Amino acid sequence: MQSLTGRSRIVVNKKMNFMEKLYLPAVMGGLMITIRHLFRRKVTVSYPEQTRPFSPVYRGMHVLKRDENGAERCTACGLCAVACPAEAITMEAAERKKGEERLYREEKYAKVYEINMLRCIFCGLCEEACPKESIFLTNRITPADYKRENFVYGKDRLVEPFDPSKRVDVSERQTTQVKEFKKHKEYTHNRLF
Ligand code: SF4
Ligand code: SF4
Repeated sequence: MQSLTGRSRIVVNKKMNFMEKLYLPAVMGGLMITIRHLFRRKVTVSYPEQTRPFSPVYRGMHVLKRDENGAERCTACGLCAVACPAEAITMEAAERKKGEERLYREEKYAKVYEINMLRCIFCGLCEEACPKESIFLTNRITPADYKRENFVYGKDRLVEPFDPSKRVDVSERQTTQVKEFKKHKEYTHNRLF
C-alpha cells in the first residue's frame, strides 16, 4: 500500500557479514558520536546553581506592589480575576479602617488575595487589567513543591516586602511609552509608583 507520508521504509532482513557480527564498527561509531558531543557547546545548564539569562519581560511569579509609602496598592476591584482566563485569582475585599491609611492605599483593600499557580498560565492579562498598577509578573520562578495546596499563593507570598531596599523592581517591564506617560502627572491617576 502507498504510504501517505512517504516516510515509510521497507526493512530488509539481510544476513550480517563477519564484520557486522563483531559489532565493533557499530560500537566504535556510537563511541565517536559520544566523543563528538563531549566537545560541543552544552545546551543544558546546571540549574539551580546556574540560570539562563531572563528576558526583561519574562512572565514569572506575580508580585503585589506597594506604593512609595509602603501601602498596598491593590483595591480589590476584581478586574484581574475577571481578566484571568484560567480562573486562577480569588480575593475577598474589606473596608479600610481609620488609622490604616499607611497600610492600604485605597478605602477598599484585599483582605484575602490568592493566586493558584497550578492554574495560572502566566499570560500576563492580570497585570494588563489592573488599574492600580498593583499586580505585576516578575522574573522570579514559582518554586516546585510536593503538595498541590502549597501552590495557592496568598498575600504572604505575593505582597512585596515593606522594606524599600527589598522591593521588587518591575520598572524593566514597562515600555518607554509607559515611562514617558508617568512623567506627565496631570495625565496619570496613579502617579505614586
Ligand atoms: S498570568 Fe494570566 S493566568 Fe496567571 S493569574 Fe494572571 S491572568 Fe491569570
Ligand atoms: S490587583 Fe489590581 S486588578 Fe486585581 S484586584 Fe487589585 S487593584 Fe484590582
